[in-house]
Amino acid sequence: MKVTFPHLGTMHIFCKTIAETSGIPFVVPPETSRKTLTLGVQHSNECLCLPFKIILGNFIEALQRGADTIVMVGSGPPCRLGLYDLVQKVILEDMGLHYRWLTIPPRLTWRAIWKNYEETKELKKELTWKNILLFPYGLRMGWKKMMACESLEKLAMKVRPREVKRGETQKRLKKALAWVDEARSLRTLAEALQRGTLSLQETEQDVSRAPFKVAIVGELYTVMDPHINRGVEQKLGELGAEVTRSSWFSTHILRSLRKNKAGQASERMRFFEASKAYLGYDVGAECNLSVGEAILRSREGFDGVVHLMPFACMPETTASGVLTRVSKDRDIPILTLVLDEQEIEGRVQTLLEAFVEMLQWKRKAASVFPKP
Ligand code: SF4
Repeated sequence: MKVTFPHLGTMHIFCKTIAETSGIPFVVPPETSRKTLTLGVQHSNECLCLPFKIILGNFIEALQRGADTIVMVGSGPPCRLGLYDLVQKVILEDMGLHYRWLTIPPRLTWRAIWKNYEETKELKKELTWKNILLFPYGLRMGWKKMMACESLEKLAMKVRPREVKRGETQKRLKKALAWVDEARSLRTLAEALQRGTLSLQETEQDVSRAPFKVAIVGELYTVMDPHINRGVEQKLGELGAEVTRSSWFSTHILRSLRKNKAGQASERMRFFEASKAYLGYDVGAECNLSVGEAILRSREGFDGVVHLMPFACMPETTASGVLTRVSKDRDIPILTLVLDEQEIEGRVQTLLEAFVEMLQWKRKAASVFPKP
């Protein structure tokens, strides 16, 4: 057995650690590239969402490198994410690729546990006692590494808009994430996190700058994966914006386990409640949350919101229409970026530059003509 998983954001570090620590053979798909996207696009219907194509490309590349067991997160309706695993299975079978499939249920219901039991029945026979005994420790290591990665990414978001040498924070972040990835025990992981944090803090910064506060909202994979969003977080930071986002892999894992009632889940509830000013029902996926978060961020004094959506994403297309109204009603600039498989790096950069320039003008205007 050789397991594989999607290469999204830093999620692959979490999955890899679980397999590695438990002694289960694995194949990490190569970092998402143009080739990954081309493979995904070639074998998908053009109407499918961008994250679907990228994940499919990841799986094809991993299977070609010897993986034989795919681990994929599941989801429920109404959004297409709930059908990703079913459709991807059909495509991979049509391509003549051989694999086994394991879906991690989005909610721990009895039905999901039973389905999971059925799927893992054969796989379990290939696991040794050592694998099974080490699995809980693998989960713990994986979780700790994920939290370490997120903590470093959050710190980088603060440092980036103040860095003196453009690109320095990103370089240091990449190194710090590699140190976390390489850690083999809880002790070395703590050391890697400390070393990474220190390295980011030591980036030469101009503390006199007052960065713009920008929230990134939108479809979850698009918000969390820099390959899908063409590095929006980094680009905005380097243009002088301190970025915030509420979508993290840990948030979604805890939500699935219903473990974050007091923390991020209540934040999501707040966003959902706020969206009711414009939306009378749950549209699905992150739509209501994108709208609600934009409303709340405007109240919290954020300078702008960047809304990310894959081309043809139904829930976020609905959100983008509503956000136009939110922007006018709440006087907060909102930029919707529609991401597809085209080479759009340059376009994304230009749009973000124009957006930040507009924030500069708005700030200048507010200082000349303060609101009564
Ligand atoms: S939220 Fe949008 S992009 Fe994501 S799976 Fe659903 S329809 Fe596709």
